[in-house]
Amino acid sequence: MIPTIEPRHERCGACNLCVLACAFHHEGAFGRRSASIEIHKNEREGEVEIVIFDEPRDGHKACDGCLNEDRPLCAQWCPVRALLIRRN
Ligand code: SF4
Ligand code: SF4
Repeated sequence: MIPTIEPRHERCGACNLCVLACAFHHEGAFGRRSASIEIHKNEREGEVEIVIFDEPRDGHKACDGCLNEDRPLCAQWCPVRALLIRRN
């Protein structure tokens, strides 16, 4: 069963650790381009939106739920538990 990630936008501090972890999952290297997760921060309002790609887009890979990992890396690396793992 493929886990899905449920974002809790209000907890996110926009540190981007999840993005780096996701790129590491896909490519074995830290980066941002291939990551299936992206953080959008409205600098004026301070609001953060966590975007997870279900399909490939602009070089981003689709989220595969980190099937080869014990737990999705983005959720493992998030220091504030803003990414919940759902195993439906
Ligand atoms: S579950 Fe894995 S592939 Fe999906 S966004 Fe998180 S780190 Fe990326
Ligand atoms: S690791 Fe957590 S706090 Fe940091 S950007 Fe990702 S979701 Fe937000």
